[in-house]
Amino acid sequence: MSFDLNSLLRPHITKLQPYTSARDEYSGKVGIFLDANENPFGSITEQDFNRYPDPYQSDLKKEISKIKQVRPSQIFLGNGSDEAIDLLFRAFCNPGKDNVILLPPTYGMYEVSAGINDVEIRKVPLTEDFQLQPNEILAAADDNSKILFICSPNNPSANKVKRKDILILLRNFKGLVVVDEAYIDFSDEPSFTTELEHFPNLLVMQTFSKAWGLASLRLGMAFASEEIIRILNRIKPPYNISGLTQETVLAAIQNKEKVDRMINGILEERTFLQTELAKLPFVQKIHPSHANFLLVKIPNANQVYDDLIAEKVIVRNRAKVLLCEDCLRITVGTRAENEALLEALQKVCKKSTDNGQRSTAHKRKR
Ligand SMILES: *Cc1c(COP(=O)(O)O)cnc(C)c1O
Repeated sequence: MSFDLNSLLRPHITKLQPYTSARDEYSGKVGIFLDANENPFGSITEQDFNRYPDPYQSDLKKEISKIKQVRPSQIFLGNGSDEAIDLLFRAFCNPGKDNVILLPPTYGMYEVSAGINDVEIRKVPLTEDFQLQPNEILAAADDNSKILFICSPNNPSANKVKRKDILILLRNFKGLVVVDEAYIDFSDEPSFTTELEHFPNLLVMQTFSKAWGLASLRLGMAFASEEIIRILNRIKPPYNISGLTQETVLAAIQNKEKVDRMINGILEERTFLQTELAKLPFVQKIHPSHANFLLVKIPNANQVYDDLIAEKVIVRNRAKVLLCEDCLRITVGTRAENEALLEALQKVCKKSTDNGQRSTAHKRKR
């Protein structure tokens, strides 16, 4: 297909002169560094952090490249996936003119980022079983539709999206197609990174926040053509990934077997939680999950959510979200946490059934 990146970009971005950091000009590690106004004595902390980190995270990208089977030049690293999402808006979407297509119910940051950047949102809901409507999506698009965000496995519905539908959109959508794979490690679905060679309009996002257990470090990945990655690198803040994050994740990648063990543990607990929830009479539906959470339908979900908080069990209330009426999103925890959730759920749901039986008209005091 024909895909002209330059015509998709905001015009001023193509002309932009990026910030050149002191470390862009000399990348050697040995020398007397008097170029960046750093503190020569070291740091106030035990470990030294006085030198600015590598702006392009070369060592880290080399290792990520090996585990993801993409070239280092096809990798962008952001301060969380959220930074990559924001940079895409800033690179491609002219405020007040362009639009993006979102597929609710989906991850909330796409809409927030669109709002911050004053970009129109066109919503094409998923089907009842949370699948794409490719024809409706294409019909909603026009020449100003710059980005289509597809989340698979989807948050909050937990299912994977049909591959053939994503392929239809990659072939026919004129803008950039983002496939957000934050939960791919919990799915049997292969990553769309294998399709990068075929689709110059594809960008795949993954993160170290979920399966790797590094949410606090803030490290998100975007995989795309070298051209797209070059654009993101030009507009990012120069030192967007801290040295501590780069070092820590570099070491973590050497220990990938531990990640695989944790993923297996989470999958076992997901099965346990599914089985036990299915035994509870008030649970109306547990949506099939390819992620590390379950979307569960329970009558009076708003009330159940509040009552769970009173029991110090915090889940995510999705009851007001399109197609998720009366649904709670429950992250898979440890065995002890899952058992505590099940116990609290039985307690609060028994209470609400008792109340319901006594009098439906009676409003409970809160
Ligand atoms: C959790 C999540 C992310 C991860 O965001 P980070 O900024 O990398 O922590 C991205 N996309 C979706 C759909 C998520 O649920």
